Amino acid sequence: MNVLVLNVGSSTIKFQLVRTDQERLTANTDEKLARGTIERLGGEAVITLRAGDRAPQTTTATLRDHRAAVEYILAWMIDGESGVGLGGRAEIDAVGHRVVHGGEQFSRSVRIDDAVLRGIEETFELAPLHNPANLRGIRAATAVLGSGVPQVAVFDTAFHQSLPPHAYLYAIPYQLYRRYRVRRYGFHGTSHRYVAHRWRQLTGTPRERTRLVTLHLGNGCSACAIAGGDSVDTSMGFTPLEGLVMGTRSGDVDPTILDFVGGKEGLSLNEAEALLNKQSGLLGISGLTHDMRELLAEEREHRDRRASLAIDIFCYRARKYIGSYLAAMGGADAIVFAGGIGENSPEIRARICAGLEWMGLTVDAQRNDALVRGREGALHADGSRLGAWVIPTDEELLIARDTYRVVTGAPARF
Ligand code: ADP
Repeated sequence: MNVLVLNVGSSTIKFQLVRTDQERLTANTDEKLARGTIERLGGEAVITLRAGDRAPQTTTATLRDHRAAVEYILAWMIDGESGVGLGGRAEIDAVGHRVVHGGEQFSRSVRIDDAVLRGIEETFELAPLHNPANLRGIRAATAVLGSGVPQVAVFDTAFHQSLPPHAYLYAIPYQLYRRYRVRRYGFHGTSHRYVAHRWRQLTGTPRERTRLVTLHLGNGCSACAIAGGDSVDTSMGFTPLEGLVMGTRSGDVDPTILDFVGGKEGLSLNEAEALLNKQSGLLGISGLTHDMRELLAEEREHRDRRASLAIDIFCYRARKYIGSYLAAMGGADAIVFAGGIGENSPEIRARICAGLEWMGLTVDAQRNDALVRGREGALHADGSRLGAWVIPTDEELLIARDTYRVVTGAPARF
């Protein structure tokens, strides 16, 4: 089945064309036929396109809206010169959409119909920037491909709907949950789920015996405790602000800081919140950059004190979460690193794992150093009681596979 995967933002679209089915899924041989990004939609858009393993090409075009962008993507895929080899629109069998927030309504991926569209709309309040854009993407795909092509919504929050109440409730007046659904939702669910599934494939572990702490460390960062194959706790909360230190987000803070700092600096509540979301984290501490690679270079080449401090706080917070999730679950079989930092930085992995020997984790430095640029494998030494792995995440692939399963009625969970 050819699945067009769309990840739609207010002025960007990321897409992939994935060929998948049960056989390919089981053998991990799904094919990425094409991928690309469209940025600055609404004006002169910047478009990067890549067919299979060919070199990416960048071009610009005037694209008025999401519909024009989807038209553009399809025309490119069908054009013989692109190298994608799509015979025509009819060869798109289904569309899979990344939808950021599914609230409490969606605990798995679903085929999009009127009720699902209403459900996504009802969640606008919880994700005011993302869900409206996701909905525009769905409407654009319907306009271009027609309502006969099935579409599936895959939610970032869905995997975490298995959290028990003691993990998802905040210790605030219960009626705030009852009235407004204020609770921990968690995000990056597609990534944590993909990584857990791939770990099971690599180790031959059945779903119900999967006990992991997964760490998605990219620009956004989150940790997830997985027991019996299900998410039982996660570090992001009501919004993606909570939890680990991120590129520009603070992660956990005492909420009274908002009012205190707002008063001192003359900021509104909104502005103070933006400070925690956009000017904090690695950027805020270092005063230099949100980019971990650049911070590591600053530390190495200039011994920049605040770059070191930012990295130390980042690693310390991650280590604390690993410890708390191991305690919460009564142990796990492995820690898994994913995301741009988790997949590419042996140094950060080593710094996070330092001091976890007492928990039974021994890192093999050589194995750790070899795991970069998309390689997957174990970084623990033989005989280590707790495992540690790098598994490059692939959210688009999981969206394509879910789309295939939902459309064909194959078991919706794996
Ligand atoms: P996003 O969350 O936006 O998808 P990524 O998963 O691509 O982001 O992660 C981006 C982060 O990964 C940046 O902080 C970047 O510096 C970091 N990163 C990428 N490569 C390396 C590397 N070789 N060493 C350290 N950090 C890296």
